Amino acid sequence: MKTAGDVRSILDALESQHPGADTELNFRNAYELLVATILSAQSTDKRVNLVTPALFKKYPDAQALAKATPSQLQPKIHSTGFFRAKSKALVAMARALMKNHGGSVPADMDALVALPGVGRKTANVVLGHALGVPGLPVDRHVLRVANRLGIAESDDPVVVEQQLTAALPRDRWTRSSDTLILHGRRVCRPTPLCDQCAAQHLCLFYSQQSHDAPRRVRKARR
Ligand code: SF4
Repeated sequence: MKTAGDVRSILDALESQHPGADTELNFRNAYELLVATILSAQSTDKRVNLVTPALFKKYPDAQALAKATPSQLQPKIHSTGFFRAKSKALVAMARALMKNHGGSVPADMDALVALPGVGRKTANVVLGHALGVPGLPVDRHVLRVANRLGIAESDDPVVVEQQLTAALPRDRWTRSSDTLILHGRRVCRPTPLCDQCAAQHLCLFYSQQSHDAPRRVRKARR
């Protein structure tokens, strides 16, 4: 695996390629980002951004959402997919916020993951972007890109989060995650566009492909 210095150099290169990387979910406060992030599971940020304006108008805070029923919520979030499970989770989450936190979103990982429908990735998104607490969310893009680059080595998002946070200063965590997500969406896709990658010269996957290329060519010519 790469050294901490290499990890920083790679993130420097990728941040130059994707300046200003940030979450693409629209939100005005921690409550809205928490709701939007729960809705984004198995969906796209664009799709979520289409439903949240009306949702937040009707349910502007945890108090309003806690009074809703899942069946009232379902038609409002239907297009994001998994709407039955998400409706239940959102109402239960809002009720837990009212019961345990006075309606506020806690700026604490343990308290966040104790809320219904909130996993570590969602908690890190909210902590880092809305509550000023550095977090490094690991989604499928971060998992794929970090392993290819050689800056992490695991299929387990919690392990990858630990490896990346150990190599980076806290004030870089949130932006590093946003940068790796954007890189995974635009360049290091499932079929990677390595010719367009600013970190190509430091990438483990690319160097392995390059070393393998002559062998593959010789094999292909046989
Ligand atoms: S060189 Fe290719 S595999 Fe490596 S990070 Fe860039 S796009 Fe991904």
